[in-house]
Amino acid sequence: MTTSTPATRPETPRLERDESGIAILTLEGRDGHPFILDLDAVSALEAIVESLEDREDIRGLVIRGAGTDVFCAGADVDAIAEMSDPDEIMETSARGQELFSAIEELPFPVVALIHGACMGGGLELALAAHARLVSDATATRLALPEVRLGILPAWGGTTRLPEVIGLKAALPYLLTGRTMYPSRARSLGLALECPPKELLMTRGRQRLEAMIEARHHGHHGGPASREPGIVDYLVDEIPPATRAYLALAERQVKKETRGLYPAPLALLDVLRRGRNKSRETRFRLEREALARLLPGSVSKHLVSIFRRSRPKDRGGLYAKKFAGVRSIRRVGVVGAGVMGRGIAQLLIEKGLEVRLVDPFSEALVRASRSLRSAVEKAVRRRRGGRVEVRATLDRLMLGTDYSGLAAADLIIEAVPEIPSLKEKVFESLTEVLGEHALIASNTSSLSVAALAAHTDRPGRVAGLHFFNPAPKMPLVEVVRHDGADELTLATLVQFAQSIGKTPVLCSDAPAFVVNRLLAPYLLEAVSLLADGAEITTVDAAARGFGLPMGPFALMDTVGLDVVLHVCRHLESVPDVGVSTPDLIVAMADKGLLGKKAGMGFYRYGKRRPRPHTRKELIAFDPTLDESHFAARLGRQALLDRLLTVLAKEGERVLDENIVESRDDLDLATIYGMGFPPWTGGLATWMRENHWESESS
Ligand code: NAD
Repeated sequence: MTTSTPATRPETPRLERDESGIAILTLEGRDGHPFILDLDAVSALEAIVESLEDREDIRGLVIRGAGTDVFCAGADVDAIAEMSDPDEIMETSARGQELFSAIEELPFPVVALIHGACMGGGLELALAAHARLVSDATATRLALPEVRLGILPAWGGTTRLPEVIGLKAALPYLLTGRTMYPSRARSLGLALECPPKELLMTRGRQRLEAMIEARHHGHHGGPASREPGIVDYLVDEIPPATRAYLALAERQVKKETRGLYPAPLALLDVLRRGRNKSRETRFRLEREALARLLPGSVSKHLVSIFRRSRPKDRGGLYAKKFAGVRSIRRVGVVGAGVMGRGIAQLLIEKGLEVRLVDPFSEALVRASRSLRSAVEKAVRRRRGGRVEVRATLDRLMLGTDYSGLAAADLIIEAVPEIPSLKEKVFESLTEVLGEHALIASNTSSLSVAALAAHTDRPGRVAGLHFFNPAPKMPLVEVVRHDGADELTLATLVQFAQSIGKTPVLCSDAPAFVVNRLLAPYLLEAVSLLADGAEITTVDAAARGFGLPMGPFALMDTVGLDVVLHVCRHLESVPDVGVSTPDLIVAMADKGLLGKKAGMGFYRYGKRRPRPHTRKELIAFDPTLDESHFAARLGRQALLDRLLTVLAKEGERVLDENIVESRDDLDLATIYGMGFPPWTGGLATWMRENHWESESS
C-alpha cells in the first residue's frame, strides 16, 4: 500500500511512501509536460522537503523522473530571461541552493534515479542526492549547459560537480556545458551504476537499503563511486597543482572564446576563489557571479537565442500544428555525394529509413564506406555499442535506380548543381513516386520554382537546403517558391525540427539567405587583399570578432570552385551587386581549390596552414597591384569593412522579405554561418550598431 502526500500543486511533483518506509518523490511535470524547476515546482519541492525533515516513518528517499524520457529539463529559461535585478537574482539562486542543501541534509539517505534528460537545475538537484543511478538508455543524457546561456550553475552545481567527480573531470562539463552520457557518468563516479531503465527502481532501492544499513554503522556520506587517479588527486588536493590547473584552463578558455564570453572565466574565478573555503562562501561566490553575468548583454543575447530557437516561440509555420501534416518515416535521398551521404547519415541516426540512390555504383560504395565509419564514430562518441551501429546502418538501403522510391514520404534531391540534370531527375521521380510524396531539392542556388515545374506536383515541392557537413550544421533553409502549398512547407519545417535542425523559411531568391550574405562578405575579403591586406590579418580580424574562421580559411574549406559557382550565379542577378574577382577565377583555373586540393589561399600539409605570399598571389593574378592601402588598416578597420558589407546585404535580405523576420535572420546567420552568438545574430547586431533596415 502507498500513501500520498499532496504537494502545494497536486500534479507536480508527487510524494509517496511505501509500507517499508521508503519515500518516492516523482518529478511530475504539469499537463504531461517535462518537469522543469519553475517557481511553482520549487515551492512545491520546498514544502515536500520541509515535510520530510521530521518524518520518523521514513527511512530513505528516492527521487525519480516521471516523463518517459525526462528526469528534469532544468530551470525555467523564460523566468531567467526576465531577471535583471542583481538582488532578485541572488535571492532566487539562494533559494535553490537552500532547497538542494535541505535535500542533502535530510536525516536519511537520498538516491536519485535518472532516466532521460537531466539538465541544468535537474542535475544540480541530483548532485545534492547522496548517490545517483543512471539508466543506460540512449535517451539518458546529463549536462550543466548554463555557460551556453552566458551564466553558470548557481544552485550549487558549480560547487558540487567537482566535489562528486573531481575538479579535473568536472571542468570540461562546467566550461562547455557538454553532454555526459551514462557510461561516462559511471566511469567518472557521478553514477553508482547504469542499469537498464526497467531495473532502475529495483537497483536504486537495493542501493538505498545498503546506504541505510551503512548509516546504522555510522557511515553517513554516499557510497564511494570512483577511484581518483594520481592527477585527479593532485588537482583536487594539492593547492599549487589546483592553481596551475585552473590557470591552464583559463588560458585555454581565453584562447577558445577570445575573451568574448564572460561566463566560463567567471566560473573559473568562482572555483579559484572558493577552493578550500566553506560551502557557504562557495555558494555566495556562485550567486554573486550569476548576479553579474545574467544582466549582461552576452547572457541576454544567448538566452534570447535559446528562446527564439524554440518552435513554440517562433510562431507561424514553425509552431503551427497543421491537421494534415504527414509524419515523414521513409526518405529517398537522390545523389550519394558529399551532401547526399551527410543527409543520409543524419536521417538514419535520427531513426528514419533511407534509400540512397546514385546511378554510379562506385559512388554508392564510397558512400556506404564513409557512412559506416561515420556512424561507428558517432555511436562510439555516445559510448554506444555494436548493436546500435548495426540497427542504425540497417535503416539504410542503397540503389542505383529510382524503382525503390515508390514508398517514400519525401525525396531529398542532392545531385550536382546542373539545372538540366536536376530537371531530368525531377521528371524521372514524378514517374515513380507515390501520389503524396514530397520532393525537396538541396540546391544551393537554383530556382526551386523552375525545378518544381518539372514535376506533376509543384505544390508539393520545396527547397531543403542543408549545409555541409549536414549531420553537424544546425541550419536548414526551407525554400518557399510561389506555388508551394502551406501544408508542404509546414511538413518540411516540422520534419527539419524533428531531426534536430533549426529551419528558417526563406523565399526562392538567388542563393537564399546564408550564401547570399556570404558571397559579398567573402569577396570583400578578396578586395581587401587586392588593397594590400594580408590573408592572415584579415582572417584574424574575423576570428577576433568570434567568427569560427576567417573568410580566406572559409573559402578554402568550402572550395574555391563552389565560391566561384555561387559568385557566377549571383553575378547574373541584378541588385545583388556581386562581381567575381579575377583572383578567384585564376586560382580556380589553376586548381587551387582550397583544402581538398591541398592548396588555396593557404597551403595545407602536415604543419600549420601557410598563407600564400603577396608575390605568389600576383603570379596567380597579375592585375593585383602593389598598393598597400589596406595593409595600413588595423584589425578593427578590416573587420569594419567586412561587417559593413555583411550588414548591407543583411539589410537587403530584410527589405526583400527573403526571410520572414529579423529573428529569422539572426538564427540563419548564427546557425548557418557561425555569426557569433554573443552578438545575438546579424539583425540584432545591426540594430545595436545602428544599422536600421528601412523596412523595420
Ligand atoms: P557531389 O558532386 O559530391 O555529389 C553528387 C552525386 O550525385 C554524385 O555522387 C553523383 O554520382 C550523383 N548523381 C549524378 N547524377 C545523378 C542522378 N541522375 N541521380 C542520382 N544521383 C546522381 O555534389 P554535392 O556537393 O553533394 O552537392 C549536391 C547538391 O547539394 C548540389 O545541388 C549542391 O549545390 C548542394 N549543396 C552542396 C553543398 C556542399 O558544400 N557540397 C552544400 C549545400 C548544398
